Amino acid sequence: MAETWSRRLAERAEARRAEGLWRARPTVGPADGRLDFAGNDYLGLARDPRLAEAQAEGARRFGAGGRASHLVCGHQDIHEALERRLAELTGRPRALLFSTGYMANLGVLQALCDRHTPVFQDRLNHASLIDGARLADAPSRRFHHRDLDDLERLLARAPKDAPALVVSDGVFSMDGDVADVAGLSATARRHDAWLMIDDAHGLGVLGEAGDGCVGRAHGVDDVPVLVGTLGKALGSAGAFVAGDEALIEHLVQFARPYVYTTAQPPGVAAATLAALDVLSTEPERRALLFERIARFRREAATLGLTLDASTTPIQPLRLGDSERTLRWAARLGDAGLRVGAIRAPTVPRGEARLRITLSAAHDDDALDALLDGLAACQREEAA
Ligand SMILES: *Cc1c(COP(=O)(O)O)cnc(C)c1O
Repeated sequence: MAETWSRRLAERAEARRAEGLWRARPTVGPADGRLDFAGNDYLGLARDPRLAEAQAEGARRFGAGGRASHLVCGHQDIHEALERRLAELTGRPRALLFSTGYMANLGVLQALCDRHTPVFQDRLNHASLIDGARLADAPSRRFHHRDLDDLERLLARAPKDAPALVVSDGVFSMDGDVADVAGLSATARRHDAWLMIDDAHGLGVLGEAGDGCVGRAHGVDDVPVLVGTLGKALGSAGAFVAGDEALIEHLVQFARPYVYTTAQPPGVAAATLAALDVLSTEPERRALLFERIARFRREAATLGLTLDASTTPIQPLRLGDSERTLRWAARLGDAGLRVGAIRAPTVPRGEARLRITLSAAHDDDALDALLDGLAACQREEAA
């Protein structure tokens, strides 16, 4: 009965509001004047006119829409060119484009795993990795965050009749710390398991050439399954899986989130190619980003703010309580600064935090404004 549904929705809404967990979407204009410390545009590419131009030109040449799935007739030259570039960047034989990172993770897990596949996930893995194991109906076990001994213990107890998959974020999206890729790889190999790393926040930022925390430093034997996303540091949209020929062909055949969806709009692929050009020709952007990170951490420490030990653009400030986190975010908002207030269920209860993200696009004035804003929050609380 319709009324039962209305009541059910009203009850869920009421419960979420009562916990201080209700979420509102800010509507953002092209230039709303706020300084953005909430997004994932780490290199300042999302609004780079060169990407927009490439996207427009790609749409003119190849069409605005993807027209069909990749397997029917949606796979165009430009997708092929982008896949080759991504394989090259990450030092892998092949790469396969997906429309979003969420779908790439669903696709890999669903295509590789079934209900007999033991899957081991870092406790802080992204929601899409958790959901992918669910879609595969695979028994997922969580190991303590970055704890190789715990992983070792779980792997040792796993049934040996099916190969296991170890899964971790590369850079943890709400914490900013980086997985021990070499340690995970060695542990997985001891148990004949594959390692899958989702490097959504590392690609374009970390690595010798912006190739991420896996990239060329850890080859396909160490990390057989690599996922990267294109909507963060690369300022565009979409994602890819990189690996050897057999893995990629397996995904083309069996990954339902790949097979049953329309190909990425070709203009988007063109924009990503333009972003990859910038990444390789302007290494100073990454250098600038790391200078910003160092300056922010130095001056936040002077203010007495305790940041997590993160070396990446993701700099969380843990405030614990969700009301307090909302208060600080609102205070910063009044000062013209946008900072993410991250609460349960995105992070565990009691671990609410401001997720401050830095970008090569921030100048010294922007950082000054952020530090002033944080100091004002402290003063208000002390008063
Ligand atoms: C953002 C993110 C995704 C999802 O990527 P989209 O392209 O935004 O769908 C997947 N994994 C991690 C770790 C992420 O941070």
